[in-house]
Amino acid sequence: MSTTRRLFFALEIPDELQQQIVYWRAQCFPAHAGRPVAAANLHMTLAFLGEIGAQKQQALCTLAGRIRQPGFTLTLNDAGHWPRPRVVWLGPRRTPRGLLQLASILRSQAARSGCAQNPQPFHPHVTLYRQASDSVSLPPPGFAWQWPVNAFALYASVFERGRTHYRLLSRWPLGNAP
Ligand code: ATP
Ligand code: MG
Repeated sequence: MSTTRRLFFALEIPDELQQQIVYWRAQCFPAHAGRPVAAANLHMTLAFLGEIGAQKQQALCTLAGRIRQPGFTLTLNDAGHWPRPRVVWLGPRRTPRGLLQLASILRSQAARSGCAQNPQPFHPHVTLYRQASDSVSLPPPGFAWQWPVNAFALYASVFERGRTHYRLLSRWPLGNAP
């Protein structure tokens, strides 16, 4: 019997920045904003692969290892509320070209390997709250988290003991930022 895992490519937020964002979130959002995402789970998804088997995983890892893209710095200075998925997010007002290229390559490799991709354009974001309340108020502008990105990674999403966590499977470096 072949087993599958729920996989996705994402950017890993450095521990220190995860902690800073969580601290800022606690200051800036009301207690009833929604279900806060745990610090260790804060991430930016680049391409969602869904439930896939080991063979497809290996093929996608081989392709990922051939990607040659420069690193970039993300400035997280925007926040928003999507009422339909009930998500509050943190993201960049300006998306670096390197991020768009990386996500685009990973998403097309995934699509060509048979992993259905969301037809909506890539909207880079870090989910801060799930099950957000309809009336959640967003923090005033003026925040700007600097996030130097020099790698991307493959994660497995694991549901265990009533909660979801992400297991890092592989990491690939990006080149020097231009
Ligand atoms: P849970 O679903 O258990 O509440 P989660 O959404 O963090 O937690 P997953 O559903 O495994 O865990 O998702 C892992 C990552 O992939 C998250 O960033 C999620 O937003 C994203 N994701 C999940 N499903 C899709 C999808 N169909 N299309 C695009 N991205 C997705
Ligand atoms: Mg989910």
